[in-house]
Amino acid sequence: MEISKIISKDILNRLLNIYTSDYGEIIALHEPTFSNLEKEYVISCIETGMVSSIGKYVDEFEDIIASYTGAKYAVATVNGTTALHLALVVSNLPKGSEVIVPSLSFIASANAVIHANLVPHFVNSEPVSLGIDTDRLIEYLDRVATFQDGVLFNKISGRLISAILPTHCFGHPCLMNGILDIANNFNLTVIEDAAEALGSFFQGKHCGTLGNIGILSFNGNKVLTTGGGGILLTNDKDVFKDAKHLSTTAKKSTQFSFEHDQIGYNYRMPNLNAALGIAQYHSLEKNLKKKRKLAARLHNSFHDFAFGKIFTQMSGVNSNYWLNALVLETEFGAYRDIILKDLNSQNLMARPCWAPLHNLPMYTENPKDDLSTTEVLASNIINLPSSPALA
Ligand SMILES: *Cc1c(COP(=O)(O)O)cnc(C)c1O
Repeated sequence: MEISKIISKDILNRLLNIYTSDYGEIIALHEPTFSNLEKEYVISCIETGMVSSIGKYVDEFEDIIASYTGAKYAVATVNGTTALHLALVVSNLPKGSEVIVPSLSFIASANAVIHANLVPHFVNSEPVSLGIDTDRLIEYLDRVATFQDGVLFNKISGRLISAILPTHCFGHPCLMNGILDIANNFNLTVIEDAAEALGSFFQGKHCGTLGNIGILSFNGNKVLTTGGGGILLTNDKDVFKDAKHLSTTAKKSTQFSFEHDQIGYNYRMPNLNAALGIAQYHSLEKNLKKKRKLAARLHNSFHDFAFGKIFTQMSGVNSNYWLNALVLETEFGAYRDIILKDLNSQNLMARPCWAPLHNLPMYTENPKDDLSTTEVLASNIINLPSSPALA
């Protein structure tokens, strides 16, 4: 038998022992679960007519997420990408400056930087956290940048480097200590893309609350969904005020007038979505437990797998295991696409990792480190179905 067939068959056998769904149905990568509570809350919006941008559920949802994550302030938005854009805008970074972004992330991380008139500067990730490789970043910045008068200057592009935007990849907390050290040393604003990381903690602190600003997404495939939605988290009162104001068309809070004092955005989460989110929150702990159980089962089942391993969180963190990842040994990475085809033909919705951002046509000219290690890492990753219902 061909080696790729042997690997596919081996993976398939292990997965079918774990996933409890009826074989023959499609086993999705990540799907939400709903109870009657979701119906009740959404119907209450319809019955009261409060389906849009005004209503009690939005404020309530913000309070719930702020208190769960330990953030002082939260601003709910229409999706995670807009929360990220808003975070970059309210950070008041020098126009046209560079933001350090891991090439191994979802496209929104880079797009939001562009939307804010800034320049993504792509750096490497490492296999222990799947986040930014901080040791390598220090060496890299020593080579390409100078730090003088409180600003970091890219000697190659001639631009300032003003911020760092770490992603908690697949919900796994990244090396935040190293990132915060680098940010401290070089006076960088830290904006955490914690879109996938609701329920993930780094040394006891919720992801998205360690830097200056963090964001979460509540898209349909995330741990908790509002249909579409996102939230900005911060402990800084001024940032919060700016973000709230800009997300609600910069409307001045006078009772009867429509006065706006800035060019704002229509980014506020509608009440209907917040209602769904509040209901979803009631199953968050239960779902996180199931997801961690599923991850542990995968880990055990693949302990003697010869061709790779299931990604397992590093010590000191508590991951939500949003998406489980099977990381193939480098010599078997070449078979990834054949394996994916085999798994999907058996109704298992396994997926490749994102294409590294620096290889996408619109980002090939952006400043970047040598990203060959990121390319190898990305091409060895297979994401496995991770819905809580599978546990
Ligand atoms: C989902 C996601 C986003 C964007 O969230 P949306 O709500 O889909 O706009 C941003 N970054 C990462 C890493 C994501 O996974």
